[in-house]
Amino acid sequence: MNLVFLGPPGAGKGTQALGVSEKYSIPHISTGDILRSEIKRGTKLGLEAKSYMDAGGLVPDEVVIGIVASRLQEADCQKGFLFDGFPRTIRQAEALAEKTTIEMAVNIDVPDEAIVNRLSGRRVCKACGATYHVDTFKGDVCSSCGGELIRRADDEPETILNRLHVYHEQTQPLIDFYGGRGVLVNVDGTKDIDTVFAEICRKLEEAFGA
Ligand code: AMP
Repeated sequence: MNLVFLGPPGAGKGTQALGVSEKYSIPHISTGDILRSEIKRGTKLGLEAKSYMDAGGLVPDEVVIGIVASRLQEADCQKGFLFDGFPRTIRQAEALAEKTTIEMAVNIDVPDEAIVNRLSGRRVCKACGATYHVDTFKGDVCSSCGGELIRRADDEPETILNRLHVYHEQTQPLIDFYGGRGVLVNVDGTKDIDTVFAEICRKLEEAFGA
């Protein structure tokens, strides 16, 4: 099962990808998570990526393509994988197509107004990465590990608008890219998490009999 998840920032790709990765035992590869871990470790790559990420822009294609190429070589990817947040440009999608075949692109569709609300209220545990929303979670610390809850630097209101702009300009064209290859499925991402998950699993079962 070689999958990519598409959708605007805050569509719920990360949450859904985690569920699918656990259910079907395929690695969940989030380029955003890899880049954040490079920043945390203070590597050269992290330093280079940070300024783009904090501004809500994209890290240069060649950097991200390099990260993904080496990740795909690892043993756990040989029986399938799920990309979350990659590809984000046509150039990245073409580079991926040179290395492997994508069997399904799941597009989680959410309108811009809902995205602004979701991202501006999103809080993330600094320790374990669990995510919460201020509308539904009133605590000050993570309910699973007790870690501090913070707002991601790129979830500041001005940065959110820039991320959406970048999404429409550079990432949305991937819907047609994968549509043209006959592997696109659309899912209504405005529904609650469990409904979206059930819908994605239904599409996977139809395609893979999984
Ligand atoms: P995410 O966690 O997927 O929302 O990614 C957070 C940030 O990491 C993005 O706003 C980009 O700055 C950077 N990033 C993640 N994935 C990519 C990618 N495939 N191409 C370029 N930049 C990326």
